Amino acid sequence: MQVVVDLNRCQGYAQCVFLAPKVFELHGDEALMYLPEVPDDQREHVLRAATACPVRAVLVGEPAGAD
Ligand code: SF4
Repeated sequence: MQVVVDLNRCQGYAQCVFLAPKVFELHGDEALMYLPEVPDDQREHVLRAATACPVRAVLVGEPAGAD
């Protein structure tokens, strides 16, 4: 699974960081770093983070051609 954060939308609320700290990390107040390739054992956490983000900035999907 892959994840993209729309950093133009992200307001640094850090819900994603609390829910999936192995994937999302905040540097300073607003600089969100993340792993674009989600490890399998982090999928559920990332899906929860996507749902929890107040501005819907966390977008998840499968790579094209994978199913
Ligand atoms: S929860 Fe959303 S707004 Fe908050 S840091 Fe994560 S991506 Fe940004």
